[in-house]
Amino acid sequence: MIKRILAALCLTVFLLASAALAEPVTVVCSFYPLQIFAENVLQGVPDVTLETLAPAGTGCLHDFQLLPGDLRALSNAACLIVNGAGMEDHFLPLLKKELPDLPLADCSAGIELIEEDEGPNPHIWLSALNARQMTLNMGEQLAALLPEYSEQITANADAYAARLEALHDELYSQLSGLEHRDIVTFHEAYPYFAAEFGLNVVASVTVEPDEAPSPRMIAEAVELIRGYELCPLFSEPGVTTDALEVIARETSQPVYELDPITDGDGTLETYETAMRKNAETLMKALNPAAE
Ligand SMILES: [Zn+2]
Repeated sequence: MIKRILAALCLTVFLLASAALAEPVTVVCSFYPLQIFAENVLQGVPDVTLETLAPAGTGCLHDFQLLPGDLRALSNAACLIVNGAGMEDHFLPLLKKELPDLPLADCSAGIELIEEDEGPNPHIWLSALNARQMTLNMGEQLAALLPEYSEQITANADAYAARLEALHDELYSQLSGLEHRDIVTFHEAYPYFAAEFGLNVVASVTVEPDEAPSPRMIAEAVELIRGYELCPLFSEPGVTTDALEVIARETSQPVYELDPITDGDGTLETYETAMRKNAETLMKALNPAAE
């Protein structure tokens, strides 16, 4: 009898242990902002390893190319979370050819895209309300991928989405106090941010942050800025600012720094902290009388 009870206990322990050790899965994000959203959405979900395709310092994915090692790593992944809106379009054909069965979780569904000459502007995450929608999209797709944790994933996504909505409200109210609204940005990363908070991007000096602007682009920017009394220039962390310095000198406009949030300290609050810092910078740059 005791033997039988022991056998039953052993079996129960074995079954419990195997349930807890569900097959671990790897979820890969294409780049940094998605990693921050995914870390919030997957908080406390066991057996999931989160990885990011683009190494730290890549910035946006404009120049990112898949290496053979990336394809090997992705061949073991349960899914690749992508920004969408064209950000990954230059390497998706290769990915689909090499790994046709890899599920893609597109975060851009339901977001109104800003169309430009070469297609939609992909920097959708720099609007807090878009980030909220991206989180909900991600949560929905990860809950379907990991049904045993769907309740927790959905609750996490809803909680983070609520924080991002609160962030929007906070920054909207703060930035409604701006005296001036005209800005020049270094790369074309801010049209969604500008649309959300009522800023006017007079010019963007380059399309991609690591692309040095041509003398013609610099001259055009100078021409565009000349008609404005105050039109500060915004560089980015880690980029060469020579071109902006030239434009600043020619137009007597000040230079500040905005963060496109493609790098950071990796904490769960990284996005919110960086957005608040950007709003503070704009308050300082566009309300000079308050200083
Ligand atoms: Zn970019």
